[in-house]
Formats: sequence, C-alpha cells, structure tokens
Amino acid sequence: MTPSTHAPHVVIVGAGIVGLGHAVAALDAGHRVTVLEQDASAVLASVRNFGYVCTSAQAGELGELALEANPLWLSLVERAGVEARRSGTLAVARSAAEEAVLQEFIAERAPEGARLVTGAEAGELLRIPDPAHLRAGALLPADLTADPRTAVARIAAWVHAHERGEVRFSTTVRGARGGSVETSRGRIEADHVVVAAGHLVGRLFPELAERHRVRQCALQMVRVRAPRAMGRGPAVLTGTSMLRYGAFAGSSAEALRAEILASRPELLEIDANVMFTQQADGTLLVGDSHAAHDAAPPFLDERWTQLLLDETAALLAAPRLDVLERWQGLYATSDEQDILRAAPTPGVSVVTVTTGVGMTVGLALGARTIASL
Ligand SMILES: Cc1cc2nc3c(=O)[nH]c(=O)nc-3n(C[C@H](O)[C@H](O)[C@H](O)COP(=O)(O)OP(=O)(O)OC[C@H]3O[C@@H](n4cnc5c(N)ncnc54)[C@H](O)[C@@H]3O)c2cc1C
Repeated sequence: MTPSTHAPHVVIVGAGIVGLGHAVAALDAGHRVTVLEQDASAVLASVRNFGYVCTSAQAGELGELALEANPLWLSLVERAGVEARRSGTLAVARSAAEEAVLQEFIAERAPEGARLVTGAEAGELLRIPDPAHLRAGALLPADLTADPRTAVARIAAWVHAHERGEVRFSTTVRGARGGSVETSRGRIEADHVVVAAGHLVGRLFPELAERHRVRQCALQMVRVRAPRAMGRGPAVLTGTSMLRYGAFAGSSAEALRAEILASRPELLEIDANVMFTQQADGTLLVGDSHAAHDAAPPFLDERWTQLLLDETAALLAAPRLDVLERWQGLYATSDEQDILRAAPTPGVSVVTVTTGVGMTVGLALGARTIASL
C-alpha cells in the first residue's frame, strides 16, 4: 500500500502483546501507527510468561477472543517470523477426580478435535518411560506455544519495518488526551490513542485503575532443562490448571478442589497452576504461583518454587529438574472484570487484560478495538 499522510494516526502506549496486537490490527486497517514503549525493549509480562496460547481452556468472551487470536498468531509466524507452533495441550489426570473433570469437559464442552487419551498415551506424548502414575489425559490440538522471549520483539520489529508503522523505545508516556500524548521526548499528535500499559495502567489513569480494582499479580516461574529428550510436545496442564481455566469449570471441579485441599493444600495456598510449555531449545517453562498485591514485593519464595519443581518432576517421573533460570512475572489482576476496557477521555482507549491470559487474547483484543474506531 502507498503510504498516506491522510491515514488516521493511531498512537499506542506499550509494546507488550496487547499494544502490539493493536498495532498489527491498525496497520492491517490502513492506519498509521506509532508504538511508544518506556523501556529499551519490552521486558514485562509479555516476555515473562509460558508463551501459552491457551485457546481450548477458555470460556465465555475469553474463549471467543482466544479463537479469534489463534489465526492472528499463525499469521505473525508468516509475516513477522514469530516462533509459535500448534503444540496442542495435554491435560493430565493422575487421580480419579482429575479424570472426572476431563471426562466432563470432553463430554460437555469439547473444542473441535479434543479427545481423551489413556495414561499410557499421555506418557508416550511426554516420553515418560513408565507412566503408571498417569490415569488419563485430554489432548486439545488447537492450542499454540510461542517463544515468549522473542515474540513481542519480532512483532515490534515487523511493525517498525512497516511503511506506516513505527516503534519508539525508551520513550515514556506521561499523559494521554484525545489528540495527543505527552512523552519524555516531547508531544506526539494522534487521531486516536490506545493505552496498553499492562499492570502499569494506574500510573497514567490512577482513578480508572482504582475504580476497576486493578492490582498486581506476582507469579514465580522457572526454566528447567527437560529431563530427557521430549520432542517439543504439547503444553502440559495438571489438576491445579483445571481449577483455574474456565472451560474446565463444571460439576466435577468442586470434587477436584476438595481433593487437592485434602491432599496438597500447599498448592492452593500459593494459588498454583502447575503447568509447563516445551520450548525449541529443549527447555521447559515451568510455573506458576499467584499472589495479588497493591505493590508486589520483588522477593521469590524458594519454598514456592521448590513446590512447583517437585510437582513437575513427579509428573515427568524425573528424580530432579535442573533449574536454568528463575524469575518473577507481574500482570494486572482484578476481581471485578477479566478485561478492563475504558475510554477515560475522548479519543483514548485503555485496554488492560486483568487476568493471566493476555498472550491468548491480546491479539484479538487489538483487532476488536481497532474495528470499533
Ligand atoms: C509469569 C506469567 C505467566 C503468564 N503466562 C501466560 C500464558 O502462558 N498465556 C497467556 O495467555 N498469558 C499469560 N500470562 C499473562 C500475559 O503475559 C499478560 O496478560 C500479557 O503479557 C499482558 O500484556 P500487556 O501488553 O498488557 O502487558 P505488558 O507485557 O506488561 O506490556 C505493557 C507495556 O507497556 C509499557 N508501558 C507501560 N506504561 C508505559 C508508559 N507510560 N509509557 C510507555 N510505555 C509504557 C511497559 O513497559 C510494557 O512493556 C502470564 C503472565 C505472567 C506474568
């Protein structure tokens, strides 16, 4: 397309997955785009996660958004060189209560292509030599695994290389009003401003963040060496994941919660979602714990990390897991809504995912906001 100075100019605050989802959608719609990112590269939630595009386990609006986002991710594999693959998900059951949740899920809410597998099949998918501890599994083929460390950098590079796109790093936005944003490098005029500042939304719009009860959720993560060659298989969910994701919610879930409360209460105490994704370099991204704060302390509790590692090692029938890295991630959380969408002033849209699924829905949120302009 020939560059047009008459194309509407959309200025986007934040080069995480939500901001970039808006940038891609705005470029696809023919707009001019400037993305402003305070850091020299995006280093917050969008690079600290599992890279799990968890389409099959979402319900309601999150499920619709996840379905819309899935092909957008695949288009960015083609267009931007993003590393993402249709890994699918394996949800494993090691107890009768977990198996009941999976059976109910497949019987009542199965996404296309999803099916139950035996414990032996689940073990084979994970290359576990003797998988006697696995009762069953559910295989969900639609889900994707991306490399979270490179994905947003590659999308940003694609936006910046676009003839109507630009990404300015090391540029902090101090205020946004219809028609312009004030930045640490001067004022920029805009036809529309999208604020995708993640958990930092309250720095620009404190009243809005307070009104929508936005807090910080702190999560502990580790990268480990796979205990054996695993062949880059599916993302793996466990019983605690079944308590977290909406599509597993059903009459069997309460029995599972009671079972975990009785047998492994420490997992509920740290609000664990014991899961991992398999990355191209043979490492596993393993997590995670959850704790909501007004200002998250930076300290990692080693007992929490050890619990996640022990659970994952037991699942994989590995004596131990070699830890390569540990880190804390933060995302915006709220007990009021899953997605904060607001127009605090004319010409400004604020979009913050306030539950931990921004990699799954962020690209689709961008498409929806831009379509509504
Ligand atoms: C440990 C962890 C695991 C997770 N796992 C998954 C998963 O597997 N799947 C999934 O779907 N979701 C997952 N999530 C959630 C997901 O990562 C987030 O929902 C998503 O990354 C949020 O994207 P964002 O663009 O809103 O925020 P961010 O990635 O935090 O990006 C916001 C950007 O805005 C910039 N910014 C903020 N204020 C300003 C300003 N004033 N001026 C300029 N720039 C500004 C920030 O520097 C930042 O780069 C996980 C999150 C964490 C922390």
